[in-house]
Order: sequence, then structure tokens, then C-alpha cells
Amino acid sequence: MKTWRSQLEHSLRERKSFSRNGMALLLLWPCISLVLGIVLWNKTLGGIEQDHQVLEQTALKNSGALARSYARYVARTIEQMDQITMHVKYDLESTGKPLQLEKMVQSGLFTAPQFSRVFIANRDGLVVSSSTPLNHPLSIADTSYFRFHKNNNSTALRMEQPTVAGGGRGSKTMVEFSRRLEAADESFDGVVVIAVDAVYLLSFYDHLTFGNAGLIALSGADGALRAARVGAAENDLTLVWTIPASDSGVVLEKGEAFADQTARYVGWQAVGSYPFVAIAGLSRQEVFAPYQETWNAYRRFAFVGSVFLFFFAVVAMLLSARLGWRKQQEAQIRASYRIATEGGNDGFYLLQPVHNARQIIIDFVIIDCNERAAIFFGVEKDRLLGARFSARYDPEYFVVVLQSLVMAMRTGFYEDQYEVPPESPLRMKSVRRRMVLTGTHLALTLQDTSYATLHKAELSRVAKQDELTGLSNRSGLMLALPPALALAVNGNRMVAVLVVGLDDFKNVNDAHGHSAGDELLRSAARRLQDLLGPGDLVARLGGDEFALILENLTHDQEANNFAERISQAFHQPFNLAAATVRLTASIGIGVAPRDGADAESLLKNADIAMHSAKSGGKGRFRFYDPQLFEVLRIRLDTEQALMRAIDSDEIQLFYQPRVDTRSGEMRSMEALVRWMRPGHGMVSPLEFIPLAEETGLILRLGEVIIERAFEQLVQWKTQGLPLLPVSINVSARQFSEGNIDRFLAACLKRFAIDPSLIEIEITESATMGDNADTIAELIAIRALGIKLFIDDFGTGYSSLSQLQRLKMDSLKVDRNFTAELCRTTEGEVFFKAIVSMAHALGMTVVAEGVETAQELRVLQMLDCDEVQGYLISRPLPAAAIPALLRQRFLFAIGLESPVLV
Ligand code: C2E
Ligand code: CA
Ligand code: CA
Repeated sequence: MKTWRSQLEHSLRERKSFSRNGMALLLLWPCISLVLGIVLWNKTLGGIEQDHQVLEQTALKNSGALARSYARYVARTIEQMDQITMHVKYDLESTGKPLQLEKMVQSGLFTAPQFSRVFIANRDGLVVSSSTPLNHPLSIADTSYFRFHKNNNSTALRMEQPTVAGGGRGSKTMVEFSRRLEAADESFDGVVVIAVDAVYLLSFYDHLTFGNAGLIALSGADGALRAARVGAAENDLTLVWTIPASDSGVVLEKGEAFADQTARYVGWQAVGSYPFVAIAGLSRQEVFAPYQETWNAYRRFAFVGSVFLFFFAVVAMLLSARLGWRKQQEAQIRASYRIATEGGNDGFYLLQPVHNARQIIIDFVIIDCNERAAIFFGVEKDRLLGARFSARYDPEYFVVVLQSLVMAMRTGFYEDQYEVPPESPLRMKSVRRRMVLTGTHLALTLQDTSYATLHKAELSRVAKQDELTGLSNRSGLMLALPPALALAVNGNRMVAVLVVGLDDFKNVNDAHGHSAGDELLRSAARRLQDLLGPGDLVARLGGDEFALILENLTHDQEANNFAERISQAFHQPFNLAAATVRLTASIGIGVAPRDGADAESLLKNADIAMHSAKSGGKGRFRFYDPQLFEVLRIRLDTEQALMRAIDSDEIQLFYQPRVDTRSGEMRSMEALVRWMRPGHGMVSPLEFIPLAEETGLILRLGEVIIERAFEQLVQWKTQGLPLLPVSINVSARQFSEGNIDRFLAACLKRFAIDPSLIEIEITESATMGDNADTIAELIAIRALGIKLFIDDFGTGYSSLSQLQRLKMDSLKVDRNFTAELCRTTEGEVFFKAIVSMAHALGMTVVAEGVETAQELRVLQMLDCDEVQGYLISRPLPAAAIPALLRQRFLFAIGLESPVLV
């Protein structure tokens, strides 16, 4: 009780630690994904930030350069004005009279558009000359610049605050440049003024360079604006920004610095020696705009990447959860294995290999064992758990033990039995060892055979021998195989296991009795034994199956050749006391280590290959292929599903009409079975009838089909329909094993159906041979008044006269011959021969598989009695039949162009 509880507790502890590890593994992936996500966003945003900085530097540099160009532009403009005013000044000073500007305009001077107006005022401020006509006397005595020039003897050019000239929509912002005029004694003698349209000063702005939200402005040294343009506003003096005090510079100004709230890179530059400052600015948004799309693309990429990482994390989490779950399962299996072995007489150890630096196994750690295992070593179990296996052994002897353990690791399986030598720590006289590789661990089982060895010699002989044949039996084979496998691995040779199954052995037993069967097995065993070389072994596995071990092979081909020799050995008939019989053998081949490293799986796989060879057509051999296993599994599935289906609604009958060749009148209908298999749809009988025949399920299935056909007739009868016969297919095996005559007789009685309404179809091959039982059964069926049809006629080897002897009523000629009719002339000749011979012997002929009107026409010509085929009708569900029974003549519906009779 105590050990059980401690075992369970141990296994629970184990499970907990697994789930803790599983948890850590589970969180690992989201963490990795999170880190990758952070790196991704960091890189993306970092890249964008870096682009920003580079762009910003460039934009600052550009706005500085623009300010410098603008300053040069302004300087050139002002220089022009400087020259004009200089000219006026010198003219006045040299002539003493003010220049007649009106005349100069007439003579083509001052026509440049930028100079809206040039005029001269005398020392009293009265305009005395003007480039535009004056309608009334004008005085500028009140202007600040006039007073300035009057009181200052500087002759430098002066630029005024802008003024708005005119009103309404045509208003213009003018900037006036003025210069002091002096008399010969250098006393104040008036002012020359040039008014310039501010727009002209701003024409430096072009959209290509400045965009739609750029800025240029001109300000005086006083910091007050003379002209400014911000974006589309041609002349906007509402600029809030104040110019720093230095001569030149660049700066990024936030949106608040401007009325339109647009952040800008601004450069400024003093205009040469003039007291003006030129300002140029670029909108930050416009500078960035072309790159915005790229940055958005970066962000999108990072976003998609993050989504991907998220899903990756989820998937990885799911996968590791599954892995964890599987590990836990393994642990559970291990725990239950141990619990299961506890209490038994065997010592059980789970060993984990210990490798040295060169990956060579040098020792094992006992990671698990049962109580019994500890008793064998004479210690407490706790002392074994976690300890090295070598710790229990004398080092010299351990080398020997280690060898076999390593061998088992390599081959996957090792089994032996020996007298325990004095240097061994095991407390027993003799021991049987069994080692199985499970995953990366080795499961070692020790069995104390001290008492058994007393009668060892006798016991093993009996235990290993097959009594009937004198060959080894399955246990003998299982003892011989592991050493052969081990040797093969060491010597780099292959070992093949050939499983030989006698085909249709059962028939011999049935036909000639069990003693004949035994005799056959003995002589088959002898034939196999005669083929063997030294060291090879043949065993009888039971029933009609044998197995051979071929050692020392270097190539698959050798196994292949051997299989061929076995097949040949079976070519000769077996002369038994009761009869001479012919028999083939199906052979499956497994080659180690490819097809199984241990004895059990090798034998199992060879057996699978043998069964697959058998179902592939008997008398053949086949190498094991992992896919065979899958095929076998599907077959077993189908077999089980079919077994369940037989008595259910899944089995249904379809009916296909058979009609008179000339008139098209319906004569009968063939019942064709269908399996409505859930999840598979409608399964064709071609897929499951052969399986049912092989497995014997056909016996019950055949009865169900017959019953359904009778039931259907009864139903139609009660509906008052004009009845026609139903033709039922019966397999050969139903004849030989099913007592079909008696079953039919019972049905006729039970359902009160007239025997003329039942027809039976059997294939040609089922009627062959001289099996007295089959012939008797056929005669019995006919005696019931049931008609007999030979199905698929032409595919077997029966002679017409043989069929006549069997008193067959009709031949159904296989549809391959129908198909040949219109293809070759031989086709027609052949068919014609069948028809005339059958008629001569009193049998009617049915053509199967009539698909075209042309075929029908030829068959009419050849005097074939009845036809069946898609041309007239496909097999139909029972519900569709009443309509046909009422219609009776079917050519009209089946044919597009009616056949002339
Ligand atoms: P079968 O006895 O020779 O049946 C005739 C097969 O030919 C049917 O296939 C039918 O659908 C098909 N057929 C009919 N007319 C045409 C045609 O014009 N062209 C072509 N290409 N085929 C045509 P189905 O129903 O798949 O049956 C296949 C075989 O399965 C049958 O061959 C028969 O051997 C077996 N089978 C069907 N039902 C039963 C049954 O109830 N019991 C037994 N033991 N075997 C059955
Ligand atoms: Ca048939
Ligand atoms: Ca047929």
C-alpha cells in the first residue's frame, strides 16, 4: 500500500515539475516576440527620427542660403534706386534746378514697372517734379522722412514703412525710398523719393523653392517690416515673428511665432551695407511632406511585423503547449509503466545514458526503478535512484555489462539469459535480461530464472518448437532474432525477415479435411527448410504462416532473390495422400534495421507486407513500406465500418432495368448494392464487395441483400404495381459457404414471392471447377424455380458446354465485349459467335454496359436477346422504379433518337 502511494506521489511531483517547465516554455515565445517587436519599432521610429534630423539640418541650411540670395536680390534693387536718386541729386546740385521728371518719363526713362512713381520735393516740402502727373499741389512737409532729411545731413538712402495707396480692391502697398538733396553750400534743398510697389520687392518668392507656405520678408534695421509674404498672401504684414538681433542666422520657429500657426525654418541676412534685413522661411510641414509617405510605409511595415510576431507568438505558444502536454503524457506513461511493473516479480530499471566528451556512452544513471529491482541488488530503492549504474558493479565486470547495454541502445532491443557470475552484484543464480529503448532511455527488465533453469534444457526445447512441423515456433524465432539483429548491427550487415503465408490454405482444409491440411503444412515447411543456408532459420508462426530469418545480407536484392526462390518452390503441386493440390504463397519482407530495429517491430512489419501482398493478388512478395501500415489501417477501419453497416440503413439497393433488345420492353432489373457510408458518401460495391469477400462479411451482407430485394418486391406488390423479376448478384463464397439455396427457399416462403420474380447472377469463375457442392447448390436453386445467370461472361475460362451442363438460363456478356462491338470487327464476330452458340444450347444472351445507340443497333442485328446499360437507364434508387414499371417500354425515355425496329 505504502509503495503504491509513494509511486503515485512521485508521479504527481513529476507532473508538476513538467507543467512548471511547460509554463516557462510557454512564456518564452511571447517574450521573444515582445523583444523582437520592441526592436522593430525602435528601429523604425529611430530611422524616421534620423531622417527628420537630416531633413531639418538641410532645411535650416537652405533657408539660410535663401535668405542670403534674397539679401543679394534686395541689394541689387536698392542699388538701382540709389543710382537714380544719386543722379537726381547731382543733377540738381550741378544745375541748381530740379530735374523735369515728367519729361524724362516722356523720353522713356523710369518706365521700369517697379518704380511706381519718382518725385522731387523742394526744401519746403512742395512737390516740384513728378514722374506721374500731379492734379493739385502736393506737400510732403509733414512726412517723417522729409523732417528726417531736413534735420540730418546724411545723404544715405532711406526706406520708409510701407503705406497703402489707393483704396478698395486695387489698393497697393508702397514702399518709399528717399534721399536728401543739398544746395551747393550743402544746405538742405529738398528730397527725391521713389515709391516702389511692395510686391516687386517680394517677387523673389517662387513656388518651386518656397512651396505654398514659405516666407520672405524685408525689414528695416529698426526691426519693422517693409514688405512680407507668407505663403499665398501676397503682401502680409501681420508677421508676428521678431528678427533676432544678429546680422545673419537660421532658426526653427514653432507655429506660435506666425499668424498662420505654421512652424518654419527661417534664415535671415543683413542686406549688404543697407540697413535692411532679408528673411526667408520654409514651412516645416512642406519640407517633410514628400517623406511622409515613406515614413508611413515604415510604420505600416512595423505594424504588419508586429501583427505577424503576435501570431507567431500565439502559434509558438500553442505548439509548445502541445509539446509540454506530450512530455507530460510521456511522464505519465513512464509512471504508469512503473506502477504496472511494481508488484510483479521482475526488476525494472529506467536508465539514462551518460556520455563522455566524444559522445560515447560510458555509464548509465538509474532514473527510475521498482522495489524488486532494488532487492536484486540487495539495497534500498532510494540508494539506486539517481545513482550511477556502475556504482553497483566491480569496474572490470561493468565493462562487460556496459557492452550489452550500449548494444541495446543501438539496436533498440536486446534480450539474453545467463548464469550470474560471482563478480556480478545480482543476488540470483541465473537471470533473463530484456532491454528496450524507449525514447532516449533504456528500459531494463531483469527476471530471476534461478528455478526455471533447473529444467531449462527440456523447457526451452518444448517452448521453442512447433509440434506439427518440427520447426521453431514464434518464441523460438523471437529468441533467435535479437542476437541476429545485434550481430548485423556490429558487422554492418542486414537481416531480413520473410513472412510466408499460404494462399487459400483454408480451401484445402475445407475440401480435403484437416489431416490433408496438416500434411500440406508439413511439406510446405520442408520446402522452406530446404531453401535455407547455414545460420538461416525458418519458424512456423501459427496457422498457415511461416517466417524466415536471413542473416548477413548486403543488399535488398538478396532478400528479393530468396523470395523468388520460395515462390518457385511452391510452383510444384503438393502430392498429398488425399489429393494433389496447387498452392501459392504470399511473402512479406522486412529488412533490419530499416524496417524495424527490434525483433517485434521487424516481424510485425514483415507480416504487414505479407498481408498487403496477399490482398494485392496472392502468389507475390512485397517489401515493407511504411505506407502499407496506413493502407492496413484504412482497411481495418473500412472492415469495421462495413460490419456495423450491414444491418443498418447504410446498405441500400439500386435497380438497373434490363430490356428486350428489339422492343425496349423492360424484362427484369438488376439489384446493385450501395453503401451510404457516413462521411464518405455513396461507396461503390467495387470498393467494398472484394473486402467483404475476403473477410467473410459477404456471407451476412449477401443475406441482407437478398432480404432487401424480397422486401422491395413485397412493397411494390402491395402498391399494386405490375411486377418484374429482380436479379440478385451472389458471390462465389456465398455458394461455397453460405447455403444459399436454403436461404432463398426460406425467403420465398417467408415473403410469399413467386420464384419467377427472382433471378440469381453468379460470375463465371464461381461455377468453375468440379466442386460438387457448388453444382449441387446450383441445381437446388434451379429446382426452386429461380433462373440462373452467368455474370461477366467472357472474362473467365468456362466453356459453353460446361455452362449448359450446369443448366444456366442466360449469359450476361461482360461490358468489355459490348464496348468492342463498334470498335473492331473482331468484336462483332466474337459477340456473334457467343449469341449463336448460346442460342444453340438453349440459353439467352444479355449484353451488359450498352452505352450508345450504335451499340444497340449492332446488338439488334446480332440477335442479342436483352440489353442493359446506361443507354437505357443507370442504376436507380428504388423510389424511381415504379415509374419505369408503369412505363414498361423504355427506349422512348432512354434514347434521343428512337431506334427503328
Ligand atoms: P456487375 O454485376 O457486372 O454489375 C454491373 C455493373 O456495371 C454495375 O456497377 C453497373 O452500375 C455498371 N453498369 C451498368 N450499365 C453500365 C454502362 O452502360 N456502362 C458502364 N460503364 N457501367 C455500367 P456497380 O453497381 O458499381 O457494381 C459493380 C459490381 O459490384 C457488380 O458488377 C457486381 O460484381 C458487384 N455487385 C454489385 N452489387 C452486388 C451485390 O448485391 N452482391 C454482390 N455479391 N456483388 C455485387
Ligand atoms: Ca451482375
Ligand atoms: Ca456483369
